[in-house]
Amino acid sequence: MLCLGIESTAHTFSCAIVERKGKQGKILSDVRKIYRPPAGEGIHPREASRHHAENSPEVLSECLKKANVKIDDIDMISYAAGPGLGPCLRIGAVVARSLSAYYGIPIYPVNHALGHIELGKMLTGAKDPLVLLVSGGHTMILAFLSKKWRVFGETLDITVGQLLDQIGRYAGFASPCGPKIEELASQSTEYVPLPYVVKGNDVSFSGLLSATKRAIPRGIEAACFSLQETAFSMMGEATERALSFTGKKELLVVGGVAANKRLSNILSSICARHDCKFFVAPKEYSGDCGSQISWIGLLESSKKPGITIEDTFVKQSWRLDTVEILY
Ligand code: AMP
Ligand code: MG
Repeated sequence: MLCLGIESTAHTFSCAIVERKGKQGKILSDVRKIYRPPAGEGIHPREASRHHAENSPEVLSECLKKANVKIDDIDMISYAAGPGLGPCLRIGAVVARSLSAYYGIPIYPVNHALGHIELGKMLTGAKDPLVLLVSGGHTMILAFLSKKWRVFGETLDITVGQLLDQIGRYAGFASPCGPKIEELASQSTEYVPLPYVVKGNDVSFSGLLSATKRAIPRGIEAACFSLQETAFSMMGEATERALSFTGKKELLVVGGVAANKRLSNILSSICARHDCKFFVAPKEYSGDCGSQISWIGLLESSKKPGITIEDTFVKQSWRLDTVEILY
């Protein structure tokens, strides 16, 4: 079974072909083009969607070429229907609908956040993990129970990806800024006190964002170090509490921020205290990609048929905990 997955929720337009063999998936190709706003600026939805529309033919043809398949060999198409930026989501949906209608290929709308989790599980071998989903669009602690991913904690305002990107942009860097902040943080050990806000099992980053901006004149390296230590410790505390509560014996971290070594370092020491296995999505597949969308399509196709073009949709705020999992 071969599935073409199309991702276009935010900055990335990606097409991937994944082959399902039993419970395992094999990524045959995963091609991406990333919209990069000018230094100091955030994602402009209209500009990002224009980028996706302009690059979609090239990404699609390169994806087929790399996988060494023709469009007729594809058994199904899945696209990220949400959550994400409306103008960006619509480009992926239009490409998926056009191919589905013209070539008569079954189509599946899928939830982007679910893709991060299931691809992470497939690539790491985690079976029943507590999940920390940390990206540009999410900061959530989740566990699977009775057909749904249940939220044990989340951000009350901005996501950790937005926090890092907004600080980076304020300092004049180009988004995404996570890697640059990680590099600067590694050059300091000076902790500047910053607001640490955990409410129940939720976190809040907006006060931390303002305070870090004020700390930058004292040195960008110390500001980045202190920012990472504070934000990651907050998520660590909430994650540790969720681990104790759920009794899960596996922790999986997925999403673009999962690429951060200091975050893994904090989480793996928490896991050691709880006799819990630690898994992190491989760096190449932790951020947004077509493979995560393709893999969900393949999992869903084992339990339900594709939908009609008339029923296809995009939903900007499609929460993961509303999706019923059938597989
Ligand atoms: P996603 O939305 O899943 O593609 O994740 C994108 C987010 O991951 C952006 O906010 C990036 O700044 C962030 N990111 C990427 N690499 C790193 C890193 N090494 N450390 C921290 N954040 C990162
Ligand atoms: Mg994402």
